[in-house]
Amino acid sequence: MTEKTLQITVTGLVQGVGFRPFVFRIANRFGLTGWVQNTNENVIIQVTGTPQNINSFLVCLKADAPSAAIIRDISILEIETKPFAKFSITVSNDVSEGITEISPDIAVCDECLSDMDRHGTRFNYAFVNCTNCGPRFTIIKDLPYDREKTTMRIFTMCPQCLSEYINVTDRRFHAQPVACSACGPNYELFENGRLISSEAGNIIDAVTKCIDNAGVALIKGLGGMHLACDAFNEAAVEKLRDLKNRDGKPFAVMFRDLESLIPYVEIENREEQSILSWRRPIVLLRKKKITRSPQIADRISSGLNLLGVMLPYMPFHYLLFRKLKTSAIVLTSGNFSSEPILTENIKALDQFSKYADVIVLHNRDIFNRTDDSVVRVIDAKERILRRSRGYVPSPVHTALNTDGIIAFGAELTNCFCVGKQRNAYLSQHIGDLQGIETIQFYDQTIAQFIKLFRIKPSLIAIDMHPSYISSKSGHTFADLPIVEVQHHHAHIASCMAENMLDEKVIGVALDGTGYGTDGNTWGSEFLLCSLNDFERVTHFEYIPLPGGDSATEEPWRIALSYLYKVFGNSFHEYKLSFLEKINTEKIRMIIQMIDKKINCPLTSGAGRLFDCVASLLDLVQTATFQAEGPMRLESIVRNDCSESYRYTIGPTICFDATIRGIVEDIGKGTEKVTIATKFHNTIILAIFDSVNAMRLKSGINKVVLSGGVFQNKYLSERTMDLLRKNNFEVYSHATVPANDGGIALGQLAVASKRRELLCVWPFLQK
Ligand SMILES: [Zn+2]
Ligand SMILES: [Zn+2]
Repeated sequence: MTEKTLQITVTGLVQGVGFRPFVFRIANRFGLTGWVQNTNENVIIQVTGTPQNINSFLVCLKADAPSAAIIRDISILEIETKPFAKFSITVSNDVSEGITEISPDIAVCDECLSDMDRHGTRFNYAFVNCTNCGPRFTIIKDLPYDREKTTMRIFTMCPQCLSEYINVTDRRFHAQPVACSACGPNYELFENGRLISSEAGNIIDAVTKCIDNAGVALIKGLGGMHLACDAFNEAAVEKLRDLKNRDGKPFAVMFRDLESLIPYVEIENREEQSILSWRRPIVLLRKKKITRSPQIADRISSGLNLLGVMLPYMPFHYLLFRKLKTSAIVLTSGNFSSEPILTENIKALDQFSKYADVIVLHNRDIFNRTDDSVVRVIDAKERILRRSRGYVPSPVHTALNTDGIIAFGAELTNCFCVGKQRNAYLSQHIGDLQGIETIQFYDQTIAQFIKLFRIKPSLIAIDMHPSYISSKSGHTFADLPIVEVQHHHAHIASCMAENMLDEKVIGVALDGTGYGTDGNTWGSEFLLCSLNDFERVTHFEYIPLPGGDSATEEPWRIALSYLYKVFGNSFHEYKLSFLEKINTEKIRMIIQMIDKKINCPLTSGAGRLFDCVASLLDLVQTATFQAEGPMRLESIVRNDCSESYRYTIGPTICFDATIRGIVEDIGKGTEKVTIATKFHNTIILAIFDSVNAMRLKSGINKVVLSGGVFQNKYLSERTMDLLRKNNFEVYSHATVPANDGGIALGQLAVASKRRELLCVWPFLQK
């Protein structure tokens, strides 16, 4: 049969994931000759062979690619037949300003784990990796992805590692972080600030002893430091909470393996898939009502029905669990309140020597800081709530020209976003832009992303809020045109961009707070919305927020504001138990603030209504972490109650009748779980009614849901269900957070659309 030659261009996540060795293997399997090459934009292959063999090769190329590879596109061009002597991997070729996708960090693979059992220089070596696994984004300083441009640069490969690195048939061919105990990084153990050991076995023994004896260890990980303790030991968890010196924010738990978590959490197929994936996120799972001991310490996530669970992903974790008696450890970010996760050894020793019983560090520098990512399965789909390790820096593919746009994101739960051609690169989770350290992290990471992705900034997108740090950063960043985007418009645009929608839709954005065009604090917005613009059709009725944003830390103030709105001064007659806990003088003061309109901004934040109900039910009066009220409320809903409360839909959506109903139910001694469920059902119906009215008027059938409230599984699933049953097309977030971590993508999409429509100065149409 006559031979032919094809040039195949593969784009997507195809570098740093063992793609070229894979191509090499299948080309040889089918007797093809030619070459494969990385460029900074894609992977190019030329193959010569019989049409039949080339066909088999193409089938394999698509079907059997390495697990961490994501092929976006394969384009095939038949070229003049070339006789090659063999199939080879040729050197990287830097062709243009384009870039290939950078792989996120990948959990250690099974083959590498078994290398750790084999005698030799990788025996129990905790930095083992290959082209299928290991650190990626966290160690990359620049492209193309070569060892010289990673933090592995300082380690010179030993002859054995080098021979694997240059052998095209080896699993470690061009594995940039390749290392062994003879040449690679190593761990060190510190106690009281003093170096105790650099011997791997001793270190594992010491950490094991520490954790099994109720101690707290600080351990350097992939994207930052972790604090660890025995998850079954209440005293150890308490100690860890004290040490972190902050809130009641739930901790994540790492279990030894899938089997060991089964007694503690409910897990469905889709959730199992997420927890086992090479991305190794924290997956939010429902706690089992346990009868057998030992029990997971209550203080890990007390009052919540969810537990954040993950499995080992670094070789060190596996080595640790081989020795540990406990089958689960708390693994939470090593940092103090409001600071980003620590990455530097010196700072770790400096800040934690006093507090942690042992400190374990290593000498492979972390260039890009990442936290553990958090996901939740809602409506049978993985939804990313915190997007960081294992997901970043994979781009979001859009249908828009995003080139050169820098979107600065929101103020809390910040991520920013940069545009390159049609891709949007969302940063890793940055955090709340409140402490100096976090703001520095933010500024640095923006600069790193611009360099890494070779962005030429041409347009800035920011939130409308005049005093957001992120908005100010946008203003001072460069002398470039600026697009201001309303917070909830950005939420809907983010979900539209993720779902490649570019048309008029019905947008429902429910969250805590965002600056509105009328100067009030929005947060329950029903928008007729395109990427370019929006019309606010309705929202939850405003209420005064006594004390402004600080009221969110004291949900009782919000409950009081609702009670006063509904009952006036006669709210006292209802003998609500939560009111008895609050100083009467404080109550009088709050009422006065509302009457005199002192520091009482108006809000339509849906989160505030949830706070109010959580307080009325006495689930929380002083919040110790963000969205505590809503989370506690969701935690007690039951699945077997379809009752709801009344509400009225006028120019706005009014929940006065709901509050009355709840207060009556409390008076009758109705169970909290029933009240919480009826309240959830009420919100779902109110959303449905409002959206339905908008469809009747506009004829639009596509509904886009966004905002942190949709992280609530019960509310999300039932809202989607009801809408679908009534023939709505429903769009929601999956790969981008529904919370403020997804805002930057929306800002970017709006800016891109406005530039396209030439309504941004200086692109303004004459
Ligand atoms: Zn491996
Ligand atoms: Zn070596």
